[in-house]
Amino acid sequence: MTQSTKTLCPYCGVGCGLEVLPPAQPGKATNRDSLGNPIWQVRGDRTHPSSLGKVCVKGATIAEAIDKNRLKYPMIRDTLDQPFRRATWDEAYNLIVNRIQTVRNTMGADAICMYGSGQFQTEDYYIAQKLIKGCLGTNNFDANSRLCMSSAVSGYIKSFGSDGPPCCYDDLEKTDCAFLIGTNTAECHPIVFNRLRVHHKKNRQVKMIVVDPRCTQTAEAADLHLAIRPGTDIDLLNGIANLLMRWGFIDSLFIDECTKGFPDYMQVIQSYPPNW
Ligand code: SF4
Repeated sequence: MTQSTKTLCPYCGVGCGLEVLPPAQPGKATNRDSLGNPIWQVRGDRTHPSSLGKVCVKGATIAEAIDKNRLKYPMIRDTLDQPFRRATWDEAYNLIVNRIQTVRNTMGADAICMYGSGQFQTEDYYIAQKLIKGCLGTNNFDANSRLCMSSAVSGYIKSFGSDGPPCCYDDLEKTDCAFLIGTNTAECHPIVFNRLRVHHKKNRQVKMIVVDPRCTQTAEAADLHLAIRPGTDIDLLNGIANLLMRWGFIDSLFIDECTKGFPDYMQVIQSYPPNW
């Protein structure tokens, strides 16, 4: 391959677009790692719809990571105290098939499970489900994305009635006020934060409010940093609701159509005047 090619960063669910180029480019010095070995060049794909050419340090250094100590062919060992030996693909596939069949025949299909990755694409998930559920006959298939998102998903369902985030990256550029609570976005989601920050810097009327006991990188970029005491975030939110009620900034139509138990909530927020 001599041309650049487009791909996705495999590290996290943000899925930034990458452009990779061979180490030697006409008219340019060969790209090398810190030991002087030629390595592929990686840069953000400016045409990617969500990352817009940005990458975090993990994506930017991916060429070094994939160049070192990579597994390039199957390695097999018969017992854990033996060294690995190189095997052919046929030998490796036969071993996998035999082991799975042995487990299935002796202990049943439910003795088999597959733990997938949040980096699977839709097509990967489809194939994995077909193999595990359709062919092998077990329901034991899950992925880290369910585990790491389980508390967020419960919150989404309770708050919005749906288990997906109700917005997309493009929405960041439509906000007049970003209220960030319980998140250090600058360090944990640099690509999202970068888009928000560009929008924030470009438009003076756009405000960023950050609620965090610590003065994080995110808080440093805020117009207003509310450094609350740890554990008082619900008190703060109830206090804001108390003021919104008092000032009449409540969307009654939305509350009637889309919420349940609002009178009970009103009772709660009576106890949260601003001085409290
Ligand atoms: S945020 Fe970083 S790790 Fe995640 S996909 Fe983008 S470049 Fe990769």
